[in-house]
This record gives sequence, structure tokens and C-alpha cells, in this order.
Amino acid sequence: VGSGLVSSLMNTIRGEEEDAVHAIDGIDFELHEGETFGIAGESGCGKTTTGMCLTKLYEPTGGSIYYDGEDIADKSGSALTNFRQNAQMIFQDPFESLNPRMTVYDTVVEPLRIHDVPNQRARVRRALEFAELEPAESFFDRYPHELSGGQRQRLAIARALVIDPDFIVADEPVSMLDVSLRAGVLSLLERMTDEFGLSVVYISHDLSLLRHMCDRLAIMYMGKIVEQGPTEEIITNPKHPYTRALIDAVPVPDPTAGRERVELQGEVGDAVNIPSGCRFKNRCEKYIGGVCDSVQPPLEAKSDVEDDREVACHLYESAEGFDPYAETDET
Ligand code: SF4
Repeated sequence: VGSGLVSSLMNTIRGEEEDAVHAIDGIDFELHEGETFGIAGESGCGKTTTGMCLTKLYEPTGGSIYYDGEDIADKSGSALTNFRQNAQMIFQDPFESLNPRMTVYDTVVEPLRIHDVPNQRARVRRALEFAELEPAESFFDRYPHELSGGQRQRLAIARALVIDPDFIVADEPVSMLDVSLRAGVLSLLERMTDEFGLSVVYISHDLSLLRHMCDRLAIMYMGKIVEQGPTEEIITNPKHPYTRALIDAVPVPDPTAGRERVELQGEVGDAVNIPSGCRFKNRCEKYIGGVCDSVQPPLEAKSDVEDDREVACHLYESAEGFDPYAETDET
């Protein structure tokens, strides 16, 4: 897909074969040039594993990740190094992701050294200035513990940008920050997307943040995408019962807003012993019986849902000819 990125992954983190944890299981999405794409879901749904597979920090056990028309899933050596120049990750905890023994300058220059990029000092200065760590040179010799939480995340952003990547995965980029610092870092991320023409994958449990930042959205549950499409459509008119439940569980800041928060009931299922049929069935308010128990609903277009949306739920009519009843013993 041009210089977009297509992912079709099946990642299984293996212990003993029979105890395999299905962190990601057959997910499939596209990230287009200049697009912002959100991945939402509860803890343990596979969001972070997806981000780490996209940047090749995790090795998927199967599937493909196409970048610029080439499958990078099994790349290694110099091909992998070249890919890494274009794919950067910003982590949730800037303190953990930065080496405490490296100064600001060494932290930001490291990717330039690895990829042997010229004009390193000027590039480091520009990246720090862009991240509003100014005057840049006054930060060069400082260590991460000498910076505030917001400054550390700005440093992580400068390090990701300095190599001029094509896409960035930002995993819960502001969740560890004090609320008063979040707006500033989010506006920096927005500016980064606009000015560098980047494609960005935002990973978060915070639907308000994703609504603000993302063109398109995928909702994950137990290693699978259960709904994906344009962000605004999904938030204002969710189709999958899990998406609905996530939205209903968002706190309501204004008590006169006309709706009450509804807590999501039940626990996420066991990622080792994956249940048959729909993985959300034990928490689903719309459960319709046998077919939900026996047939795993595929993520697909539905004839009774907007064209640009895909949903994995038997409540809707398949637009692709998939007949769940053909796969059950029921008549
Ligand atoms: Fe609920 Fe069945 Fe849809 Fe799963 S397939 S979300 S159990 S209605």
C-alpha cells in the first residue's frame, strides 16, 4: 500500500507449547502515510505487543508486516537496521525507557551514530528545540534524573524524531505524566505529526485522548481487533458491544451531560485457554446464544454497518458472504 504499512500478525509469546499466551492473534490493519491510528482496549488486550511488533522490538511468530511494499516481519541484519531508521517508538514511562547513565546529548545522538547520519550536533540541537527543551545546549550534559517527567518525555520524543522516521508508535505517551503536563506533551505530539508528515500509531486505554489525536481507531480485545474505522464514527456510534461498553465506562465530567458512567463488568478472559466462539461472550450484554459460543466472529465489513467500518460480531450481517451458521451444528 504505497508507503503505508500493512500489518497482519499472529503473535504468540510461547512458554511451553500448550501454555502459549496469545498476545496478538491474527490482527490485520493498514496505516497510511500521514495518518494517525489509535489502538484502544483494556490492559492485557495486546495493544503494546502490537506496537512492539510494528517496530520489530518483538518478533511475531507468524504473519506479515508490509512496509513500503516489503514484508519486514522476517528482516534481519542491515535490512532491519534500515527499517528501524524509519520506525521509532515512544514508551509510556520516559524514565524507564531512557538510559540513566546517558546524558541528554548522548541519548539523542545515539540513533544518528547507529545509522551514521552526518551533522549530528546540529540535528540534536534542532530535535531538542523542536521538543521545547531550550536552550538546547543547556540540556546537553544533563542526565534523565535531572529532568522533570514532562521534560523526560520531551527528550524521548526528540530522540524518536532526530532520525527523521516515517512512522512512530506512541504507547500511552502521557499516562505517566502529571495531568498538568499532559496537554503540553500532546500538543507537541500533534505538532510533530503535522510538521514531519508522520504516520503515528497511538496506543492508549484513554478514548478521549484517541478521539482527539486519531483519524482512525481499532478496538482490541484479548489479542484481536473487534472493531475498526473512522474514530469519530466509532466513538459516536459504536457497533461492537465491547466498544459500547468501553465508551459507557468513560467517566462523565459533567453530571448534567445526560448519561451516567456504566462500569464494565467481568474480567478479561484467560489468554492461555482461549474460549471457543466469541472471546467477549462472557461479558457481552448482547450475547445471542449458540453462534456466539461456537463461531469466532471474523473482523469484516457488514452490510448493515457503514462501509468504512469493520466489526467482529454476529449481531450484524456479513457483507462478505461469511455465514456463521454454516460453521455450527445448529440449523
Ligand atoms: Fe456479543 Fe455474540 Fe457479538 Fe460476541 S458475537 S460480541 S458474544 S453478540
